[in-house]
Amino acid sequence: MSGAEARAAALNIQMVFQDPMSSLNPRLRVRDIIGEAPRVHGIVKRRDMAAYVEDILGQVGLDPAMGKRYPHQFSGGQRARVGIARALAVKPDFLVCDESVAALDVSIQAQVLNLFVQLRSEFDLTYLFISHDLGVVEHISDRIAVMYLGRLIELGTAQDLIARPNHPYTQALVSEIPTFETGKKIYSAIKGEIPSPLNPPRGCHFHPRCPHAHARCREEAPALKEVAPGRLSACHLNDAA
Ligand code: SF4
Repeated sequence: MSGAEARAAALNIQMVFQDPMSSLNPRLRVRDIIGEAPRVHGIVKRRDMAAYVEDILGQVGLDPAMGKRYPHQFSGGQRARVGIARALAVKPDFLVCDESVAALDVSIQAQVLNLFVQLRSEFDLTYLFISHDLGVVEHISDRIAVMYLGRLIELGTAQDLIARPNHPYTQALVSEIPTFETGKKIYSAIKGEIPSPLNPPRGCHFHPRCPHAHARCREEAPALKEVAPGRLSACHLNDAA
């Protein structure tokens, strides 16, 4: 791959960070933050830059006149939109969104999530959306991969995985998703502490907290296996089924 091809491939993948405040340069005006990468990479001519940045600000739901402000002059939700605008400015195909709504109030989270959904269809984007909130993940994802202590433990379509979680950890996560169903719901947290990722337990990493753990789980790490068409799970209970 030539240097130019490598640069183009790198621009195709952009990142939206968890904390917009610390990921935006406080010394730059927002129009310069958004315009810097397209200018450096020659995506837009200098004379067209102001209109280009104003257009992107409008696409993420911000008043184009706000481009002259600094990051601290925005609310948290607006800063999240600036972070998305900066990522979109180089016309990527793929966005890595790392806990991109976790720092926001719940009402603002919903607005920004809906913006992600809208932009995905407008720009034909693909997201790798990383979150600890399975309710958020369910809202935005086509496929969900569940990880525990650095291992992939379940993978499937969002609809199927939420409706029929296979792995005991996924089952516990899904049972904690808030719903609008009437009646009293008792939430029961997963028991025990999360082990250190630097020194994870032998065998299945989840065994010290799993209500179904048995002798094999303490010795042997379960392999990720297909348990249904398009569905993978890593749990010894599937061997017994
Ligand atoms: S392999 Fe064992 S400990 Fe791990 S999730 Fe399955 S039953 Fe629980």
